[in-house]
Amino acid sequence: MPELAEVELARRIWAQAEGQRVTKVTTNPKARIFRDLPAPALQSLVGQLMEGSHHHGKRMYFTFNTSTYLEVHLGMSGKVYRAEHDYAPQKHDHLILTLENCSLILNDYRMFGRVMMHEGTPPWELLPPDPLSRKFTLSLVKEIVAKRPKKVLKGALLDQSLFPGVGNWMADEICWRLQSHPAAPLGSIPPENLYKEVKAVCKGAIKYVADKNESALAKPQALGFSAGGYVAEVPPKNWLFQHRWKAGGSCPKCKSPLERDTIATRTTAWCEHCQK
Ligand SMILES: [Zn+2]
Repeated sequence: MPELAEVELARRIWAQAEGQRVTKVTTNPKARIFRDLPAPALQSLVGQLMEGSHHHGKRMYFTFNTSTYLEVHLGMSGKVYRAEHDYAPQKHDHLILTLENCSLILNDYRMFGRVMMHEGTPPWELLPPDPLSRKFTLSLVKEIVAKRPKKVLKGALLDQSLFPGVGNWMADEICWRLQSHPAAPLGSIPPENLYKEVKAVCKGAIKYVADKNESALAKPQALGFSAGGYVAEVPPKNWLFQHRWKAGGSCPKCKSPLERDTIATRTTAWCEHCQK
């Protein structure tokens, strides 16, 4: 599933259409991505100006006419593309926004993605703070830890109401940097360290996944994004990320073979030597 930095990269692809008006909306009304919002409701976007966009955790928002927000979730297999104005729909394209100079496409073959619309207050202001935002503070992390001392560390990191945008690989990276076992109780983790490493991994993910790939996406032959499709520019070799899925993968710090098991319902990799 796309995590915070991949969603940010996806947002940047569609954001290149900011400043243009929607001329046509094409939908596949039977697609399950319209389970929260009937597809015909999107026709209200025709004639509206795409003014801005925002990323929050695993969600992205596109602002039209000041106070209308289109929310897009990529789910498991959602991909977004930017294409020519006269783009012809392809298989699994469920939403195409045609704007003055380009088309924005949401393609999702498994259809766990979804779209929603909001009016009025920016919807992200009502959500738990994104770890990259200024509202995500040390005192917030202290409160999170104090209220859930027995919660498993990895489970807490994956909880979207606590750390929105953190997904499986980022959670493993944070545990590894904390030198804490992923199944350790949250109460055993100093909040100062947790705050520092969550911030560092989120910022690093943006740097290595979103920033580095953005230039590659500017090439005309690479207008799309799909989850996991960012491997050309991934976090450096001193991150766990580079080693966690390799057969015989070893800890980038001590070179011990990595352990793997299911923790908090997700496949987890860690170093038994470094993460007591
Ligand atoms: Zn190690």
